[in-house]
Amino acid sequence: MPALAIRNGKILLPDGRIVTSGLTINNGKITRIGKPDRKITTLDCRGAYVIPGLIDIHTHGIGRISTSGSLRAYAEQEASRGTTAFYPTFFGPPEETSAHMQRHLAETDNLRAVPQVVGFRLESPYLARTGAGRSKDLAPIHPTTTRHLLRAGGGWIKIWDISPELPGAPAAIRALCRSGVVCSIAHTQCTVAQAQAAISAGARLVTHLFDTFVIPPQTDPGVTPAGLVDYLLVEDRVACEIIADGTHVPAFHVEKTLRCKPANNVVFVTDSNFGAGLAPGEYDLPQGWGRVKITGPNDGVRLIDRGMGLAGSALTPIDGFRNTIRMFHKDMAAASRLCSGNPARLLGLNKGEIAVGRDADLLVLSPKLDVLYTVVGGKIIFSRRSRD
Ligand SMILES: [Zn+2]
Repeated sequence: MPALAIRNGKILLPDGRIVTSGLTINNGKITRIGKPDRKITTLDCRGAYVIPGLIDIHTHGIGRISTSGSLRAYAEQEASRGTTAFYPTFFGPPEETSAHMQRHLAETDNLRAVPQVVGFRLESPYLARTGAGRSKDLAPIHPTTTRHLLRAGGGWIKIWDISPELPGAPAAIRALCRSGVVCSIAHTQCTVAQAQAAISAGARLVTHLFDTFVIPPQTDPGVTPAGLVDYLLVEDRVACEIIADGTHVPAFHVEKTLRCKPANNVVFVTDSNFGAGLAPGEYDLPQGWGRVKITGPNDGVRLIDRGMGLAGSALTPIDGFRNTIRMFHKDMAAASRLCSGNPARLLGLNKGEIAVGRDADLLVLSPKLDVLYTVVGGKIIFSRRSRD
């Protein structure tokens, strides 16, 4: 892999400082922060921001692509939206998910052709509530089903969603954790005790907190009830995902989450679907999921035939990053932590901060936060030709 130098960048450092400096990259890793060697290929950032690339741990589709399409096309779309690592997230019947994973692995030389894809995520089938999904997407927890899916994923399933109230959930979580899978509490109406059992078994993530969780009923008039969400907000052993569009989770809940959880235990995700990033209009989801309406990045992907219900978000990762700054009023360091550093830490990736030895997964952003360049492993995989 040829060396690359970056100069004249406003570089976001792990301590939150932004310094005008350069970087040297060798063999896909950052090897020096400071004035780069002049003899190697150089990208002049002309004062643009250089930040860690965005990492999306929950995405079902983008543009006109979904997990049922081509992973190369998916990764290309993601690159243009600032994503340097992502986990294509499957939601479908187990047999269909297996077939898609096997096809992706065959088409991409076991993911080697798509270095942004750092693993697969299964949101179904082990869910107690479908959310926007269909009952055929769900299945009871069974070791044979688990083994079958793990085998079809070829060792690439890194995140697995489970509702704690399903029979066999703690044992399944323990087994998956032993296989190095991060288990996430999802689509649930479980009791606090059931959630505690799942966390004691090893669950370390909560899938889109607030979404597909229920508000507990009031038992004594005038007394605000506490339920599962309240417990998860103060349970430091689990990180919580937030869909960062302001519609799935209103801004007050986002702020509450950020004040409750330790700084490294919140992960912003898109939960994007087919249609994310497309112009406002009506589109047909693939595989008979129905017709949807999109009005903008922050209003979700809405199912026209199902009362305009939400079916994931229309966010792309750079939209979520911009929202963190413009809608949730956080600084760039916090936005980077939520959209890159924290997911990297949770999944054990050598990414998510600009430091010597880390993977050279970077984003060059204009002052208006438009993606100018996306760099993965020291290679420029996207560049915007006309600059603002
Ligand atoms: Zn999802």
